[in-house]
Amino acid sequence: MKNRTGEPIIRVTNLAKSFGDNEVLSDINGEIYRGEVVCVIGPSGSGKSTLLRCINMLETPTSGTIVVDGHEMTDPDVDIDAARTRIGMVFQSFNLFSHLSVRENLTVAQRHVLRRSKAEANRVAEHTLERVGLSEKIDAAPSSLSGGQQQRVAIARALSMNPDVMLFDEPTSALDPELVGDVLKVMRSLADEGMTMVVVTHEMAFARDVADRVLFMADGVVVEEGPAAEVIGDPEQARTREFLHRVL
Ligand code: ADP
Ligand code: MG
Repeated sequence: MKNRTGEPIIRVTNLAKSFGDNEVLSDINGEIYRGEVVCVIGPSGSGKSTLLRCINMLETPTSGTIVVDGHEMTDPDVDIDAARTRIGMVFQSFNLFSHLSVRENLTVAQRHVLRRSKAEANRVAEHTLERVGLSEKIDAAPSSLSGGQQQRVAIARALSMNPDVMLFDEPTSALDPELVGDVLKVMRSLADEGMTMVVVTHEMAFARDVADRVLFMADGVVVEEGPAAEVIGDPEQARTREFLHRVL
C-alpha cells in the first residue's frame, strides 16, 4: 500500500448519476492518493465508464462532489477546462485525430490549451513518444499504425499535458490479443514511475500485479475494495467471486 498521507488527489463523495430513471451510480465514495494505481473491475454495465467520465466531468453527476487536486470539479464556477488539464484520459477507442500526424496529435492541445510554444510542445511530444517506445513514428499518420501503436500514441498525447492523474477506460479491450502486451507494458512503466492511475480493465493479471488497490463494481456501487491480493485473490463478497469465476 502506498503512503496515503496528505490530501488525496481525487476525492469522490456521495456521487450519484442517473440517466433518466436509470440510476447508474449510487452513493460512490472514495479517495485516490498520489502515486496510487487503482484498478476498477466489474461486469459490463456496472457503471465503470460513467464513474471515470464523472471524475473529469465528461458526465455531470446527478449529486455528490468530485475534488481533483483541490479543485471541486462539480462546482459550477470552476474553470472546468483548466481543471481537466490535470487529468489525462485514455479511451478504449484511442480517439486520435485521424487527419493529423502523430506529432500534431501530441502538440495541438499543448499549444492551444497550455499555450506552450511550438518548440516546447515538440520537445515534450518527442519525450513522451519516447516513453511509449514510438519515437520513430512522430511524423506518421495514425492510420498507418497498428491499434496497439495508436493506443500508445493516445497515452503519449495524454502524458504530453503533464497530468496529475491518468484515467484509462479499458485501454486494451479493442486490441487484437497480440497487441495488448505492449500497451500494458507502457502502463506498467508509468505505474513504476509513480504516475497516479485509475484503470478500468478486464486484464486481471495486470490488476493483480500492478494495482495498489482494486475496486469491484456491480450495479452502480462499489461492492468490494482492497489490495489486489484480497479482492482478486481471496474475495469476500459472493458477487465478486461470481464475476471472477466468469473472467479468470
Ligand atoms: P460499464 O463501463 O461498467 O460497462 P457504463 O458506465 O458504460 O458501464 O454504463 C452503465 C449504465 O449506464 C448502462 O446501463 C448504460 O446503458 C448506461 N449509460 C451509460 N452512458 C449513458 C448515456 N450517455 N445515456 C444513457 N445511458 C447511459
Ligand atoms: Mg465501460
